[in-house]
Amino acid sequence: MPTKPTVEKLIADINRNGHKKTGIAEIFGSNVFNDAVMRKILPKSAYESIKKVQTGEAKLTLETADIVAEAMKDWAISKGATHYTHWFQPLTGKTAEKHDSFLAPQKDGSAVAEFSGKQLIQGEPDASSFPSGGIRATFEARGYTAWDCTSPAFLKEDAAGDVTLTIPTAFCSYTGEALDKKTPLLRSMEAISKQAMRVLRALGNKSSKRVTSTVGPEQEYFLIDKTFFDQRIDLISTGRTLFGAASPKGQELEDQYFGAIKDRISKFMKELDIELWKMGIASKTKHNEVAPAQYEMAPIFSTTNIAADHNQLVMETMQKVALRNGLVCLLYEKPFAGVNGSGKHNNWSLATDDGINMLEPGHTPHQNEIFLTFLAATLTAVDTHADKLRASAANPGNDLRLGANEAPPAIITVFLGSFLTDLLENISKGKTTQAKGQQFLTIGVDTLPALPLDNTDRNRTSPFAFTGNKFEFRMVASSASIAGPNTVLNTIVAESLDQIAARLEKAKDKNKEVTAIVKESWANHGKIVFNGNNYSDELIKEAGLRGLPNIRSSVEAYGAMANENAVQLFEKYGVLSKREIHSRHEVYLEQYAKHINIEARAAIQMVKTQYIPSIMEYVSLLANDINCIKEAGGDSSLQSTLLADITELLKSAGKKLGILEANTEKALNTGDVEKRAELFRDTVFTAQTALRSDIDALEQIMPKNLWPVPTYADMLFNF
Ligand code: ADP
Ligand code: MG
Repeated sequence: MPTKPTVEKLIADINRNGHKKTGIAEIFGSNVFNDAVMRKILPKSAYESIKKVQTGEAKLTLETADIVAEAMKDWAISKGATHYTHWFQPLTGKTAEKHDSFLAPQKDGSAVAEFSGKQLIQGEPDASSFPSGGIRATFEARGYTAWDCTSPAFLKEDAAGDVTLTIPTAFCSYTGEALDKKTPLLRSMEAISKQAMRVLRALGNKSSKRVTSTVGPEQEYFLIDKTFFDQRIDLISTGRTLFGAASPKGQELEDQYFGAIKDRISKFMKELDIELWKMGIASKTKHNEVAPAQYEMAPIFSTTNIAADHNQLVMETMQKVALRNGLVCLLYEKPFAGVNGSGKHNNWSLATDDGINMLEPGHTPHQNEIFLTFLAATLTAVDTHADKLRASAANPGNDLRLGANEAPPAIITVFLGSFLTDLLENISKGKTTQAKGQQFLTIGVDTLPALPLDNTDRNRTSPFAFTGNKFEFRMVASSASIAGPNTVLNTIVAESLDQIAARLEKAKDKNKEVTAIVKESWANHGKIVFNGNNYSDELIKEAGLRGLPNIRSSVEAYGAMANENAVQLFEKYGVLSKREIHSRHEVYLEQYAKHINIEARAAIQMVKTQYIPSIMEYVSLLANDINCIKEAGGDSSLQSTLLADITELLKSAGKKLGILEANTEKALNTGDVEKRAELFRDTVFTAQTALRSDIDALEQIMPKNLWPVPTYADMLFNF
């Protein structure tokens, strides 16, 4: 059996080879049961069958599954695997896995390795301990995992040397309801493919067979030293600092973004890249982000389903590799107050199986027609369903980020840039657009000047920006699965494509109809376009005038995904049933309430067991000092003022602590889940923030050596 190369060896190899392409090419995908592996080791007929299943042209037979399972097992074992797992994505937003060995004992006391087609296709994990929002009770514990053959199986290795064949699966209840994030995403991909194909066919496309949504998620994260992390109850239990005065230096010097990467971080990034490459994740870009101790990783885009699987692995691997390096990776949206938080930039587009990107302006009239139709469809969708898109980015962490002066605001608008805005404006007025010596008259007749990527000026403040040949949805929460946002995006665009297809299929003059569609979309939905500064008050004013929703909190936002309008939309396209929608609504509200409850408990514990005792220690030191000075006939006014200030803050903190405890108790005892979540937002979160202000003020006048936890300066700058 060949031994499995360790990370250290791979790094050593890379170092020896320099950064020659061969190094990366050898590593990339080496742990993936990908197309190349299948073509090499599967019998030709089985390979062809599985390809047809992957493209939706055929159904999987048990015979093919048996052959694939056998090959998968042999391949995995040859690389050191002893176990396999059905890997799924429950509503916790994390991933789940239960490992089973290939072991099959024989009558004579020996054992063989076994893995059947049936074991590959379906698993039956106990579903009772995963959130289901009432879809299933504990006594109907059975859940099913079903192989998603569109996302390749791979090997997960851990530092202990354990290798597991990991099979991406969808997770549903006994009655077939989705209990996970992947199932609705797959359904939304089918919905958008179907509607996009209708539009393409109506526009004369005969070659494409399928349309897939493509996504490249840029992942932001923080790294801090583990010794600091271990001393903070708040970080350990909530992922963010609940207390902490601003450090003297923050991000104001703008010296972190794209700054030189420190050696310790560089080592982490290098190991991360290798681990990701092995699993076929095309980690491409790495750099320092805006806040101190903040970084970003961007992969090369892929099919949305695979991008979502990969992003989960990226988050998991970042945390593992950080620990190996004495670091902790914080994925929380706003781990530190006063400096930027983290998001995920969800770059999204649509592409055909034969390589047409629908959001590529292109050079030819034919492509312009596609581009303008899909652009109009996206604008219509985002304007019509801005509330749902906003909801897809909601979580407690993002409440601290959206609308603060850094991240996209809670208001959804679209950035198009002046060129495209003028273009649509002119089409709607029947005017010509003059650009770079070319003329644009009517769609499909004249050429739309190709948009150079760097010509679509950047607007970093926009939550939904056109960036040359894709849209970048920047509101997405850094710790969340990207499945939710993309499910919404695919479904809402599928709806507007459906409406467009219905018109185009009937139209005698397709050209004229496309012009009419673009005109109408601009007239009715152009109001979603805002090219200005989204951090400004002007946006709030404009949003009010234009009637754009400004949904400030998660609790409110979740509601937008559960109202009648949402049920109608998601049921119509077979993405989520009413029952699934309502169960999700309940799960998310419940999770919100629990999250704020944990924050409150962590805050209470820190204040009672760490801050107050330390402050009391200093108070008694000061009191003793004052007595001694007085006895010696000295001037103790400085000490007395300090003591008075501290006593004042401590008294205030004590009062606020009482309020926090009482409010938490009251919220916890509220039966209705929506009311409970609202109380946690309006009375617990606020009480905890109020308590923070006193403790942070105390931090700034207490001796550093008596302060019981690491400070912002320690955590953010100590590398
Ligand atoms: P930025 O300037 O925002 O960092 P990049 O050019 O680095 O932009 O691209 C950001 C992400 O967008 C990458 O993950 C990239 O692969 C992805 N991307 C590029 N083209 C597409 C596309 N057609 N569909 C989806 N994602 C794409
Ligand atoms: Mg970006």
